[in-house]
Amino acid sequence: MKPRPSVWPVAAVLPVLAAAVLAGQTAAPTLLLRADARLEPVQICGTTPRWELNGRLRADALPTGLAGGEPFMFDQDPPLVFAGASSSLTLRNFSVVGDFPAVTFRRVTRDAPDGVVETWTRVSMRTVSGQIVSLFEPTWTAAEIDQMFSARRYGFDQPFVYWGAFEVAGGAAQRYIYVRTGLAGIPLSPVVRINDQVQYASDVVNLVVPTFEDARITGGMNGFDLVSAARLFYQYFADRYDVLALSPESTAIGDFGAFHANVQNTVSGLNLSTFNQDARYGSTGALQGIEVYAGATATRYQDTDHEMAHQWGSDFDWTRIAGISRAGHQPGAHSPLWTGGETLIGAVLFGDRRVSASNGRFTIEQTPPPAAYHPLERYSMGILTADQVPDFERT
Ligand SMILES: [Zn+2]
Repeated sequence: MKPRPSVWPVAAVLPVLAAAVLAGQTAAPTLLLRADARLEPVQICGTTPRWELNGRLRADALPTGLAGGEPFMFDQDPPLVFAGASSSLTLRNFSVVGDFPAVTFRRVTRDAPDGVVETWTRVSMRTVSGQIVSLFEPTWTAAEIDQMFSARRYGFDQPFVYWGAFEVAGGAAQRYIYVRTGLAGIPLSPVVRINDQVQYASDVVNLVVPTFEDARITGGMNGFDLVSAARLFYQYFADRYDVLALSPESTAIGDFGAFHANVQNTVSGLNLSTFNQDARYGSTGALQGIEVYAGATATRYQDTDHEMAHQWGSDFDWTRIAGISRAGHQPGAHSPLWTGGETLIGAVLFGDRRVSASNGRFTIEQTPPPAAYHPLERYSMGILTADQVPDFERT
């Protein structure tokens, strides 16, 4: 089972989203390889191999923290925006590492797909571990919200819209901002409140972990306080879940849409060391991995299934095994371009595209639903034995 604890920094009613996505962000080059070729950044995965750390964490996650100018969170008000909304939208506590009186944002609109330049002026400051954090509070009118909705595709399969690009100071990078959207008709789910820190409904748990986001300031891009969240979870819930998927109520900003971190690995032959960090997280043996989803990315199957697959791969050293030059998105942790079916953990194509081979020719085609894990991934998971994996080709 896969519970999805949400992390509240403050007591509030969490907009629990039924589905889930993932990943970071990259610019246009991969767009045409997706079925969903809208003119907006593609959210990408932040999982990368770090074998020497007994699990996957990013090189920049330890020991250095977030660089000056990096935005790392905001609180959306209202938590969900609905089509036809008559109220304004405000991003409260929009937090940027460092002392910045003003920042630049490019808000995309129907008439300005490259973005209308906005300058946000700081409203307050705070200090975390000796580091100044500048706070902004941009707001937009109902008419501006309407214009965005009319320019974007969103809905049950993607309950969020791309809002624009935040310019990291110095022009080093952009961070893409997405706004959570709501849908009418989602049934209510009874919530059981345990105390001021913990409540749950079905397999969704809300946890109040005040240190969750701020831990990134010193911990780096992936440096959320996962340990405190997990330990709080296990104070109240049984240790019978393989994965804890965390979706912060405050939207996480970064260069990823989601990532998976192995907590233990007992499977050999994956080019991933065997290790067990369960005790650190408060698990007595069941916990395999922990995931973080930014914004509403926990609502898309291709993202949750992608991150789940990272528990087993794809860390094979294909250069050594087959002389393949790795390419695409973080190729050390994602699959080369294979025939033989879609891959939900590919470095080149997302799960909604796959390679068709016919008469020596390769063609990219749309994956018919439901998408499935490639036989190689099922072998990594132990579902197929080696002799059950059919031949496939690299394209
Ligand atoms: Zn990935």
